[in-house]
Amino acid sequence: MTYHELEFLKNNIREKLAKCIRDPKLSQKLSENSDQPVEIVERAQIAIERDLYLTLRNRVDDRITELREALDHADNHDFGICLDCGDNIPVKRLMAQPTTKLCVECQAEKERKERFLRDTAEDYEW
Ligand SMILES: [Zn+2]
Repeated sequence: MTYHELEFLKNNIREKLAKCIRDPKLSQKLSENSDQPVEIVERAQIAIERDLYLTLRNRVDDRITELREALDHADNHDFGICLDCGDNIPVKRLMAQPTTKLCVECQAEKERKERFLRDTAEDYEW
């Protein structure tokens, strides 16, 4: 990976990070609890919205953590090298998924194994 490719990737990660931090969906205010009597249906709706918001918030927080780690990792000599096979991960893949630590083939193999284990566990009667 050239110096320019690395700088390009780091800027890409910074842009994705900035986008996560200022995600407009997360600036919505949660429905406030109030002392006003509300219908049960409305209360249930508020609870659902709150759960969705918190789930989304957690996912975005996780994504921010991953992107920050990728940005830190970008300065290491092994950035862009597949953890499983040691091959270079193509820059195009790192642009699309800067947090990836596996090349396409190793990622596919990992997912195949996970699917197999999941399917086997589902077939097994406990
Ligand atoms: Zn690999």
